Amino acid sequence: MHARAAAIKELYKKEPDSMIGRAYAFAEKAHAGQKRKSGEPYFNHSIATGGILRSWHLDDATVAAGILHDTVEDTGVPLETIKKEFGEEVAFLVDGVTKLGHIKYREIPARDGSAAAKKEPIRQSMEEARAENLRKMVLALSQDLRVVFIKLADRLHNMQTLSALPPAKQKRIALETDEIYASLAYRLGMHNVSGELQDLAFPYLHPREYEWLLSATKERYAERAKYLEKIKPQIKKILEDHDIKPLDIEIRAKRYSSLYKKLLKRDMDIERVHDLVAMRIIVKTLPECYAALGVIHEAWPPLPRRIKDYIAMPKPNAYRSLHTTVIGPDGKRVEIQIRTKEMHDENEYGVAAHWLYKQKQEGAAISGKKLAQEIAWVQQLKNWQERFTGNADDPEEFIRAMKIDFFTDRIFAVTPRGDVIDLPAGSTPIDFAYHVHSEIGNSATGAKVNGVMSTLDHPLKSGDVVEILAQKGKKPSEDWLRFAKTTIARDHIRLALRKKNVFARMLSLPSHAELKITVEDRVGLIKDISGSIAEMHIGIMSFHTEPAAGKRFHITKVDIQSTDKKKIEKLVAKLRDIKGVRDVGYRLI
Ligand code: MN
Repeated sequence: MHARAAAIKELYKKEPDSMIGRAYAFAEKAHAGQKRKSGEPYFNHSIATGGILRSWHLDDATVAAGILHDTVEDTGVPLETIKKEFGEEVAFLVDGVTKLGHIKYREIPARDGSAAAKKEPIRQSMEEARAENLRKMVLALSQDLRVVFIKLADRLHNMQTLSALPPAKQKRIALETDEIYASLAYRLGMHNVSGELQDLAFPYLHPREYEWLLSATKERYAERAKYLEKIKPQIKKILEDHDIKPLDIEIRAKRYSSLYKKLLKRDMDIERVHDLVAMRIIVKTLPECYAALGVIHEAWPPLPRRIKDYIAMPKPNAYRSLHTTVIGPDGKRVEIQIRTKEMHDENEYGVAAHWLYKQKQEGAAISGKKLAQEIAWVQQLKNWQERFTGNADDPEEFIRAMKIDFFTDRIFAVTPRGDVIDLPAGSTPIDFAYHVHSEIGNSATGAKVNGVMSTLDHPLKSGDVVEILAQKGKKPSEDWLRFAKTTIARDHIRLALRKKNVFARMLSLPSHAELKITVEDRVGLIKDISGSIAEMHIGIMSFHTEPAAGKRFHITKVDIQSTDKKKIEKLVAKLRDIKGVRDVGYRLI
């Protein structure tokens, strides 16, 4: 058992009546007998997830919800039971994670499946937009960042055990992890989680490159690590000679996934990557960061243009640290990162670390070129962070701040395949149908929302799984314009209705006939005429008489339900025989 999971078990043994202890017992019972694909008990996944969340210093409700996160979806425990046993908050978090489970990301297949087609810029930007949409959906759907944390912990453990799944599934999940969750973790400043997820996905996404990288760097890594271990005491001494007591000096190998990305930019030339293994110095205070940088530069000359002050100018995801590269003993390059413990925790755990710290960050300017489109997004997160960093002591305020209230004007609904449809608030299944495909909209007859039959005007919520029931050849109804919200849906409905009318007119066959009978009025004439029509078994639709010129004759017009010319001719002959009838004509309408 992993240390993080073991810590949960330990807690359960020590305090079985605590919230985490009770969640442990509840989940163990609920998952009893269930096995993972790897053959190990399902419950292992529950406590591993809870353990990861605890290692991120999250609150008990989040850890408990992490332990319980699969009980509703996978064991059929009603959400009501969770609410009764663990309260509203835990139930809300479990429900959030269950809903997130309905989202799936897969690559749009290239038109001809070739590698070249996959690199088409249009396709790539579509892919990027779709991934972005999905990331936003995850946030919007979560409503509370703690739901995202649970999902990230869940995914982290699933990735650690991914090898047990069939290859096609491995690939899809690895892609989703890389595109959606690692990227989301990065945006939330959870550097460590993001990197870990990317590293776990990398061998599944690029198996050959991964193999190559392993063999190409193995010796180099070992050699670099050995060298840094050797100079570690020297750095420690240099710092201590200047009254700087480092809390920790770590030697840290670059992650394979980020090394691979760097190599792509360096023509796959490993000689040109200098930070294969870096040294990380953790100090107590911010002034000590700069002091440490100064004394190290004094001892070993820095390389020009390699000094980066991410403390004065944090990265857009709020990453803070000093970076430098110096020429160490034996003329070898040494990449050094210097930061406080607080910065370190924030870099590793991002927003989750704000449980621990409340320092307000001033002047966290966003710089860089490609970031224009990201600013709004990051700014929202920043505002949100700032709103509660002033008040991290107050747990109530923190919880409130964790609620995600951006994207309130959008909803994100999901197809049964897990594709996300982004719609304005108030949209209905008919909007959803037209956004999936105009043909699906045109032939819609009804909808199932979360498995329940529903009308086409039913307002949708974020996270609803919507299945459109369609019938071939069915045409849109004018009524739909009453509740269709989106322009796309409304335009398609109008277009289809117009087509329908034109089509009907073009094809319109006569539906009935009009008789025009010139009569000299007398008592009983109308009865005689209608009697003759009835005898032919033809229905009468309307009957009216108007005086003709000179008032001697009248014109009687009768609409009859027949378009059968032979039958009508026969009727006309019959009518002519009636006394008082002067003339009979007809036309088909
Ligand atoms: Mn799970």
